[in-house]
Amino acid sequence: MERLLTGYNRFREGPWLSLRQLFLQLSLGQAPDTLVLACSDSRVDPQRVFDAAPGELFVVRNVAALCPPYQPDGQYHGTSAALEFAVNALRVKQIIVMGHGRCGGCAALLSGAPHSCPEFVAPWIEIASPARARAQARAQAGADLQRACEEETVRETLSNLRTFPFVTAATAEGRLTLEGMWFDVGLGELWQMDPGGAFAMIAARGP
Ligand SMILES: [Zn+2]
Repeated sequence: MERLLTGYNRFREGPWLSLRQLFLQLSLGQAPDTLVLACSDSRVDPQRVFDAAPGELFVVRNVAALCPPYQPDGQYHGTSAALEFAVNALRVKQIIVMGHGRCGGCAALLSGAPHSCPEFVAPWIEIASPARARAQARAQAGADLQRACEEETVRETLSNLRTFPFVTAATAEGRLTLEGMWFDVGLGELWQMDPGGAFAMIAARGP
């Protein structure tokens, strides 16, 4: 805790002071253009990867950056609730699904959830079971299984996003786009999915 409070102190003396006007303006309301759906993994912070300002990104993070299919059954759907709010209330213009390298959620999808996490992680990760099947097929053809699973999981999340009527309506109206990305933790490189589903590293643009 002490380490975090020291960090908070640095925030108050540095970033908060320099962004004071922005924070004051944001206290009146938020209007982010982008929803980022990323993994909860401590190494993959969208705010940091995109060097984004406060108020710029509406971020949802969960195990393996999954979105369940549209299921309006009155249960506790945290990710779907955030999605509904971002698209219908904030009217974000783009949704970025960001997978990443060495994803423990994808490892659990391939090898089973840790024995200590049978109640929620195990059933949650099964949302992406179609991605597992596709990754295993790609591995048969020589692909790296873990990497293939991470990419296929991004595709699966994008596919599930399209099962939400308000997402398909917004994309059909041309006011919302969906993007898939993958972040390489070790190298700090961001890869982007093209319309055909292939991932390519985003070239550095220089300063
Ligand atoms: Zn992960």
